[in-house]
Amino acid sequence: MKKSVAGLDQEARAIRIITILRQATKNMVEPASVFIVKQFGRDPFLILISCLLSLRTRDTVSLPASVKLFEVAKTPEEILKIPIPKLASLIYPVGFYRRKAIQLHSVSKDLIDRFGGNVPATMDELVSIKGIGPKTANLVLGQGFGIPALCVDTHVHRISNRLGLVTSKTPQETEKQLKELLPAKYWIDYNHLLVMWGQNICVPISPFCSKCAISDLCPKIGVKRRR
Ligand code: SF4
Repeated sequence: MKKSVAGLDQEARAIRIITILRQATKNMVEPASVFIVKQFGRDPFLILISCLLSLRTRDTVSLPASVKLFEVAKTPEEILKIPIPKLASLIYPVGFYRRKAIQLHSVSKDLIDRFGGNVPATMDELVSIKGIGPKTANLVLGQGFGIPALCVDTHVHRISNRLGLVTSKTPQETEKQLKELLPAKYWIDYNHLLVMWGQNICVPISPFCSKCAISDLCPKIGVKRRR
């Protein structure tokens, strides 16, 4: 049983944090996956491709590249029609753009060969596709299909530990502990909110605790330097 912070048990504190962050992030730039859904509708294939492009690349670089690509190709069949060198130049300058162009072809081919050109809607099937890990799969399930899923990226992992909502070394452990703590209806939102908070306030090095809206609810675990 974890020590209570601000007189609240863990679940009540987590829900209070979510409620405060919903207000506090209102004017922040939304995560790329949310933008993609607003721009192109809820399409699991587009969420999958934009997530693959965003791996090891900032949203400010990967999002314009995704939009540029989707203006030309929005289905596995259309991606496969683009020769790999042209695909690489379309997604440039995302990190590893040549390797990612090859990957987009291989994922598209696998979807056509094994799933009739559709993105599967289960974790097991998604991670059976080469290059797709649990983080991408959870984002596709949550954002692409609207199925409760908890995508744990670097921001969610770091901030959940600082908040003391989890005590974990890996994103997989964080996901498991958060799912035990939070009711499923909060999972998708929790990811969006913490991504925005991690990009703007609870940054990796020296977070802005002095202007953090949830400072009173945060034990700041492991934070050595703060502003
Ligand atoms: S108080 Fe500091 S460590 Fe806690 S969430 Fe806010 S910025 Fe992060």
